[in-house]
Amino acid sequence: MALYDVTRDELQGILAQLEQALYNHQQWHAALIRTLVCNLPGDRHDLNPEAHQECRFGQWYYGKVPEKLRNHAGFIAMGEEHRRMHQLAATLLMEARAGKTVATFDFDNFANALDRLRLEIAALERELEDSLYNHDSLTGAITRFGILPTLREQQELIKRETQLCCIAMMDLDNFKAVNDLHGHLVGDQVLAATVHYVIEHLRPYDKVFRYGGEEFLLFLQHTELALGYDMLERLREGLAAMSVDIDGQTEVRITASFGLALLDSEAPVETSIDRADKAMYAAKSAGRNCVRIWEAGM
Ligand code: GH3
Ligand code: MG
Ligand code: MG
Repeated sequence: MALYDVTRDELQGILAQLEQALYNHQQWHAALIRTLVCNLPGDRHDLNPEAHQECRFGQWYYGKVPEKLRNHAGFIAMGEEHRRMHQLAATLLMEARAGKTVATFDFDNFANALDRLRLEIAALERELEDSLYNHDSLTGAITRFGILPTLREQQELIKRETQLCCIAMMDLDNFKAVNDLHGHLVGDQVLAATVHYVIEHLRPYDKVFRYGGEEFLLFLQHTELALGYDMLERLREGLAAMSVDIDGQTEVRITASFGLALLDSEAPVETSIDRADKAMYAAKSAGRNCVRIWEAGM
């Protein structure tokens, strides 16, 4: 999930909302069961077909939520569970009010609804926490601590399958000059825009790690060298054609150099990283703004 344009404060706010939502709905769920069992009049708000939009959580959920989150699969699924739970509640209340016996199927469904909502909330919380703690806040890339475990796990997979994986090292060209010319803050914006472009233009299952300052390790799953090369060429061309708009006043252009290597299933993963790094330096020596594939002797 690329939630890089959701700020840390926003993420923390969202996590607090989810905690609160779960707590409120636990209380509400228990109160509703009490209403049904004790045959109490109940709250008329719960009969409203739009009740899911009117509870406190609903007001937040259907209100001002960052666009990136709104389109996120886990967020949508959680909203669906929440809506269904309120609709089930309305059905049960209406049956009870009409003096009917509540169908066991409907009741079981309602009783389980809270567990399903809890699961959706927990899954989303975990993803958001992962985004908060394991991603670099400037660029949205995964922090470098994730590199070795990810590559070792993938290495186990490629030993058992015939699928190949590529790793690439990407380093921005003459980035120091951007800082020197426009200042560090503009440099930060250019760096963030560059990485956002890369994340947006890779496949959802590829991974982008921040390896160092303006150096990134790209992990391309199920990718043989020729495909990896084409993917990097497209990225390189796209970046070279892009200009980063700074507050509508300055346009900054940037290029990057790429080194590509296969993830070797037999050698330690550090060896493959080193190969991609060497290939990247070969790209720098070849004049920058190009892609080089590792070969022995580099
Ligand atoms: P080359 O083409 O050889 O890679 O040249 P370069 O200038 O990009 O390389 P060099 O390693 O000399 O400098 C990288 C610069 O990137 C130096 C450092 O100040 C800058 N940098 C690293 N991380 C950040 C960051 O987070 N923000 C900003 N603004 N600058 C950064
Ligand atoms: Mg550089
Ligand atoms: Mg560098």
